[in-house]
Amino acid sequence: DAVLDVSELTKIYPDGTLAVDGISFDVQAGDFCVIIGPSGCGKSTTLHSLVGTIEATDGTITLDGADITDAPTYERDIGLVFQDFQLFPHLSVAENAAYGLERIGAEDDEIEERVDDVLEMMNLADLADRQPTELSAGQKQRVALSRSLVLEPTLLLLDEPLGDMDYKLQKQMERELLRIHHELDITFVYVTHDQVQAMRLADQIVVMNDGQIEQSGSVDEVYNSP
Ligand code: ADP
Ligand code: ADP
Repeated sequence: DAVLDVSELTKIYPDGTLAVDGISFDVQAGDFCVIIGPSGCGKSTTLHSLVGTIEATDGTITLDGADITDAPTYERDIGLVFQDFQLFPHLSVAENAAYGLERIGAEDDEIEERVDDVLEMMNLADLADRQPTELSAGQKQRVALSRSLVLEPTLLLLDEPLGDMDYKLQKQMERELLRIHHELDITFVYVTHDQVQAMRLADQIVVMNDGQIEQSGSVDEVYNSP
């Protein structure tokens, strides 16, 4: 079953730039979908339209059967992880992870339990009281993932999350992402311009170019077909 259905999504910025030109794709529940394409092809615009931080000009977005095209960000059951982490610098690891639950007014007991669980899963339990400045890049990205995962989103969007990391750390974090994806049975939409990463991670690849979808399918269908 498709958990995400994007139909004829279009974004024209106020200055007239046609960033996304009527794209349609869907993502099956539990799949690891990778959107790939060169810089400027519309990947970030697409992600931000999904999460609601950019207002689509046209088209519809359906999540779990509900039309969320005009829903405010906080009503969309979607998490977003950025390349530059965007952690709260004055909050500890545990406080960063707890942030979303506090905002929705969860009970203290529940917050504590869910934060403990997610930090355990992300191998961050020993670092719960550290500040973000005291963490490595890999640890920071695991905190950013924890902050999203604690809310148990239907869909997790990842915008070049390993983009600034060296090759060795990238590969280690890829394994971590595949493990979480498998353990939580969550749907991922992952944006990158890196074909090697796409081939290692994706169940489904969506190839974008110049605001449009050029190709979409499994790794085999996209890269290994004659
Ligand atoms: P990415 O690393 O995803 O390719 P960009 O470097 O294209 O991101 O864009 C970084 C930020 O700058 C984004 O918030 C994007 O909306 C904004 N931006 C990109 N291009 C333009 C532009 N031509 N005019 C105004 N803002 C832009
Ligand atoms: P990608 O993430 O693939 O690098 P983007 O979605 O950031 O691509 O950008 C797609 C196109 O939209 C680019 O031509 C970019 O310059 C343009 N763009 C992005 N943000 C803005 C903005 N805020 N205003 C105008 N143009 C933008």
